[in-house]
Amino acid sequence: MDKPRFFSHLRCRECGRHYAKEPVHVCEFDFGPLEAAYDYDAIGKSLTRKKILSRPRSMWRYRELLPLENEPTVGLHTGFTPLIRTRRLAERLGVEELYVKNDTVNYPTLSFKDRVVSVALSRARELRIDTVACASTGNLANSVAANAAAAGLRSFVLIPADLEPTKILGSLIFGTNVIGIQGAYDQVNRLCSEIAGKYHWGFVNVNLRPYYAEGSKTMGFEIIEQLGWRLPRHTVVCMASGSLLTKIHKSFQEFTKLGLVEAGEFSIYGAQAVGCSPVTTAIKNNTEIVKPVAKPHTIAKSLSIGTPADGYYAIRTMKETGGAAEDCTDEEIIDAIKLLAETEGIFAETAGGVTVACAQKLIERGCIPRNESIVLCITGHGLKTQEAVIDKIGQAKLIRPNLREFETLFEHAIKTI
Ligand SMILES: *Cc1c(COP(=O)(O)O)cnc(C)c1O
Ligand SMILES: [Zn+2]
Repeated sequence: MDKPRFFSHLRCRECGRHYAKEPVHVCEFDFGPLEAAYDYDAIGKSLTRKKILSRPRSMWRYRELLPLENEPTVGLHTGFTPLIRTRRLAERLGVEELYVKNDTVNYPTLSFKDRVVSVALSRARELRIDTVACASTGNLANSVAANAAAAGLRSFVLIPADLEPTKILGSLIFGTNVIGIQGAYDQVNRLCSEIAGKYHWGFVNVNLRPYYAEGSKTMGFEIIEQLGWRLPRHTVVCMASGSLLTKIHKSFQEFTKLGLVEAGEFSIYGAQAVGCSPVTTAIKNNTEIVKPVAKPHTIAKSLSIGTPADGYYAIRTMKETGGAAEDCTDEEIIDAIKLLAETEGIFAETAGGVTVACAQKLIERGCIPRNESIVLCITGHGLKTQEAVIDKIGQAKLIRPNLREFETLFEHAIKTI
């Protein structure tokens, strides 16, 4: 394959100043976040639908639009998860054209975070960084741990100590250094910034954040391609830092700019849990000022970021695209997880429940019309947050191994239907 030369520099989102392609993430002048910038003329001449279609089914089929200087070396099998036309769920929600982008089956750790980590660790290797780390609400830690193990990189993952046991196990198994912090995510993140300032480690979502964040665009590229090179009219995304939502927006803009999809209207909607809803609250109060949540309290722990780094940009994205925001209670999350499972056979984690529950509310409120295309971004697998539903799904019916007992049970079951 030809060597990609399309990633040109880092650029401040606020003042536009250029920065070299180093492990840096904030502008020295205004503290604006740095973002990857590309040579779109060169990409436009090189990247066609035909070329994309000829490549393996992974997120790397769009590699010209990812911030690497060489071929990727980490996470080669990540992405290209199914986009499913969900007819039974559509019927329950009373809409005509509904899809689920199913990142519960992403490789290797069953969440959308495998996308961002594949880019961040590939870039870390290009920068000759030998120790990678992250501040995580669970899924990021799992993905850093797995991908670092496979890449032979040393890793440290820092998490709030009270995460779901399966999320902690899902990092420990890979032999990474798991550090549980007695505090909320914001405190974990602050500590990581301090460590990153002192040690020359690659913190995927701190000093490597401009690279990391770009990985989320591949979810949007795939949605367009899998819809038959069409923009979805409405896209619902759950938010933690708000990064995924803003990057889906960027992906739709980039494919439009490159002529890979016909220009058209699209709206993007954000979803959070009531127990940690700094971004949706700002939207509902019609302000762009995000008020931090000091003590998040919800079963959607993967979304529990009280001070969302990209909250402001997420708000701007929703406003600019004519989207909206919604939040839901823990009870609504559980009902939504069960609804998605029972109608479509997809077991999502609590964050997925947030997306489905909020989409339902946005449809009922009339924000999302019932007769246009809707995509729900389902970002993580339910086996990682079992405690959220374990008491809400009944139990196996126990019998001794004989036909009579089975038939008694069966007759009883028929009577109770
Ligand atoms: C991290 C995460 C998100 C959202 O992440 P952003 O910080 O908003 O990009 C959504 N769903 C799951 C399951 C996650 O782990
Ligand atoms: Zn700046």
